[in-house]
Amino acid sequence: MFRQRHLSATATATATAVAVAERADLVPGVSAVPDALTLKGVAREYRRGVAALHPIDLAVPRGRFLAVMGPSGCGKSTLLQCAAGLDRPTAGTVSIGGTELSSLREAALTRLRRERIGFVFQAHNLVPSLSVAENVSLPLMLGGTRPGDRALRGLDAVGLGDRGDDRPSELSGGQQQRVAIARALVTGPDIIFADEPTGALDPVTAQDVLALLRQAVERDGHTVVMVTHDPAAAAWADEALFLGQGRVVARLDRPDAAEVRQFMRGMGREGERAA
Ligand code: ADP
Ligand code: MG
Repeated sequence: MFRQRHLSATATATATAVAVAERADLVPGVSAVPDALTLKGVAREYRRGVAALHPIDLAVPRGRFLAVMGPSGCGKSTLLQCAAGLDRPTAGTVSIGGTELSSLREAALTRLRRERIGFVFQAHNLVPSLSVAENVSLPLMLGGTRPGDRALRGLDAVGLGDRGDDRPSELSGGQQQRVAIARALVTGPDIIFADEPTGALDPVTAQDVLALLRQAVERDGHTVVMVTHDPAAAAWADEALFLGQGRVVARLDRPDAAEVRQFMRGMGREGERAA
C-alpha cells in the first residue's frame, strides 16, 4: 500500500495538542485549542432555491488530513471555497483556528487568508515572472515580513533547495507542485486547502506530492483538507468525506484506495438510480 504511517509522530503531535489544551483550560476565559476548521450549518446557493451545498457541520482538528471526495458537481470546490474564505456561504459560519470569518472585514479576511491559510491548486499555482524562491516568499512579503532564509528552508524541505533561482517554467509539473506546497507552508498556517493538487500529475509524481502533504501533517502537525476524485490520493488521508449533491453522504476513517473505489462505484449506482 502507498500509505506510510508514522503513528508515533501523530501520537506525539496529539499529545502535544492535548497538553496545550489542558494548560489553556487552566487559564480562566481561555478555551481549549480550537479546531483548525469548523463549519456550522454552512450552505451555499448560487441561484435562489438551488442549493450547491446543503447545511454542513464539520470540524477538522489540528494535525488531521481530510480528503473530500464525490462526483463532479457534488459541491467539493464550493465547500473548499467557503471554508477557505474565498466565497461567502449563504448560511452558516466558518471558523479558521477559532476565528469566525464572517466577523472579519475584507482587509482582515485577506490577511487571514494570506497568513493562516495555505493554498495548493491543481495548476497555475505559481507566478511565472518570479523566481521559485520569490514565489515561496510571496505570502511573507505581501504581509510585510522579511522572508530571510525561510523560502530556502521551505524549498529544502520539499527537496528543491538548489532550484530557488530558477523560474517556475524551468521545473516539471511535480516540482512546481512541490514549490506550491513550500509556499503554502511558509507562513505556518492553521490549515492548508488543496483542490485536486495531483489532478494534472502522473501517478508516480502524484505520490511524491501526496507524501509531502502527509509529511507536513505527521512530522510538523499541519492540517490539510484536500479535494480529490482519486482514490489513491484519498488513501493518504486520515479520513475521506464523501459529498453527494451538496450533502455529506459518508465518511471513511483511514480510507484505503480499494475501499474508496468500491464506495465510489456504489455512489455512481446511487446517482444513476436518482437520475
Ligand atoms: P465539484 O467541485 O464537486 O465538481 P462545484 O462545487 O464546482 O462541484 O459545483 C457544485 C454545484 O454548484 C454544481 O451544480 C455547479 O454547477 C454549481 N456551481 C458551482 N459554481 C457556480 C457558480 N459560480 N455559479 C453558479 N453555479 C455554480
Ligand atoms: Mg471542483
